[in-house]
This record gives sequence, structure tokens and C-alpha cells, in this order.
Amino acid sequence: MKARLVLRFPPLLVDQPVVYKLIKDYNLVFNILRADITPDSEGLMVLEIEGDENDFKQGLEYLEKRGVKVQPLSQDVVMIEELCTHCGACVVHCPTGALYYDEERRVLFASEKCVACEICVEICPYRAMEVRLE
Ligand code: SF4
Ligand code: SF4
Repeated sequence: MKARLVLRFPPLLVDQPVVYKLIKDYNLVFNILRADITPDSEGLMVLEIEGDENDFKQGLEYLEKRGVKVQPLSQDVVMIEELCTHCGACVVHCPTGALYYDEERRVLFASEKCVACEICVEICPYRAMEVRLE
């Protein structure tokens, strides 16, 4: 089986070879679609993982036991521009820089950088960020 997953690592795990164990112990192969890893803060990775169903299940159980939050990347996040007030609340929390200021301090959305973590959806006070299912 194959799936695109968002992995969020607590700060203590960021410098440990947790993902490498997926290859070594669970025979999984993966492509890293996106990675934002900074020492001493939460890490985020978007992986496309492929492998035997049983190995896949056990690999994900291993990640969750180590404290990695795993969620499927199965949706798109969109900005409803007419609802956005450019308050900037989402910009500091977006882990990938998909929400950013232009020169006039208007908040723009670069969808190609978005990993659909949904942080902005939870944070936006005006409901200007929305999940659209595929
Ligand atoms: S939090 Fe919402 S309203 Fe504020 S800048 Fe972001 S998308 Fe726009
Ligand atoms: S869902 Fe929102 S916070 Fe997460 S990466 Fe996309 S734009 Fe940034």
C-alpha cells in the first residue's frame, strides 16, 4: 500500500533517526515531499510511504509509540480571500511559509508550499482558511 502522510515530531525526537527505522525495521520505502526540521522545536515531514500492508501498519504504530503524530495528507487547504482580514495570526504558525506577507503587509497563500496540516484552519478567527476534501 501507499499513502501520503504528515508526520509531526516533538522537539525531543527531531535529531533522532526515527524515520530511518521505517526502512531498516519495517521495510518501508518513502519519498520526502517536504521537511521542516529545526533543532529544539517541533519538526514536520510530509512523506509518501509505500510497503506491505502489515509492515505499513507496524511502522505507523512504531511512530505513534515514539510520540510522532501521524495524519493522512488527503485534503487541500484553501484561502477564502474575501474573508481574510490580513490580521497575520496564521503567518507565524504556518510551519512551511505557505502563508506570508507581501511588501504591503497583505497575507498571501502559496498553495504549493502547503502541507495541509490545518493549523491555520484552527487558528484563523475569520474562518478564511478551509479544508476541501479531495
Ligand atoms: S488568520 Fe485568517 S484572517 Fe488572519 S491573515 Fe490568516 S487567513 Fe487572513
Ligand atoms: S494548512 Fe495552513 S498552516 Fe498548514 S501548511 Fe497549509 S497554509 Fe500553512
